[in-house]
Amino acid sequence: MKKLFLWSAIIILSLGLLQAQEPLNIIAIGAHPDDCDFKFGGTAALFAKMGHNVKFLSLTSGDAGHQSQGGGALANRRRGEAKEAGKRLGIVEYETLDNHDAELLPTLEVRHQVIRAIRNWNADIVLGLRTNDYHPDHRNAGKVVQDAAYMVIVPNVCPDTPPLEKNPVFLYMQDRFKKPYPFSPDIVVAIDDVIEEKIDALDAHESQMYEWGPWTNGRSQDLVPTGKEERRAWLSERIKRRSGIISLDRKASLEKWYGAGAATVVEYVEAFEIAEYGYQPNDEEIRKFFPMLKTIRP
Ligand SMILES: [Zn+2]
Repeated sequence: MKKLFLWSAIIILSLGLLQAQEPLNIIAIGAHPDDCDFKFGGTAALFAKMGHNVKFLSLTSGDAGHQSQGGGALANRRRGEAKEAGKRLGIVEYETLDNHDAELLPTLEVRHQVIRAIRNWNADIVLGLRTNDYHPDHRNAGKVVQDAAYMVIVPNVCPDTPPLEKNPVFLYMQDRFKKPYPFSPDIVVAIDDVIEEKIDALDAHESQMYEWGPWTNGRSQDLVPTGKEERRAWLSERIKRRSGIISLDRKASLEKWYGAGAATVVEYVEAFEIAEYGYQPNDEEIRKFFPMLKTIRP
């Protein structure tokens, strides 16, 4: 009897340990191939290194994002760039849907695509865009993720794909827009250890980083160096500048999660806001969802 008790205790303990190490399923949903990389690439690389399953989903094919290419050829090129970026980050999957770029609307059809994607990934964490943004695709991508936030657990919605048993945590990826209200950096993740992976991933989006982006920025594509190493260095300088802690509220959040003084040693961060829809985690649960949040001694 004593032996049986001992074995049961060992089995229960092992199951508990297994559960504690179970990988998290994380899906980030953007409008274009490169949105998730910009806002979540570093944190995604950290999750991937820790053995968690990360998927990036672009709701459009990106087939309008170029000054001299377009349509199916550009969509194919960008799908290839996204796959390469996903590989460089170590994430499981980078999918781009066929909805047209610059024409994304928060239709029932797109909402259902999002609901099915979140369910099929069995997501614990869903990241989306806020609905305040310069690009209508970003606003609409944000809207459909919000619209899916409750429906993922409703069995009569998309009955061909089993509903989630637990509502995931929904987070917004960072942006700089202030009206009607500014982004709130509830969680700030230090990405110094993976900043090079993030730059490598963005470097894979050649059509955007070195051609279309500079073209939209004052037709400055001719200022981009042509050599592979030189242009990566050019990109690196820009990404590092954009990834600094910048604001006082980001600094306060970083120190909340990593300890006092962390902001004096951490150089690069990504920030996330907890959406009011979906599961509402407390601080202890956030540490389980973001296992990279650990005290840093300055
Ligand atoms: Zn975009």
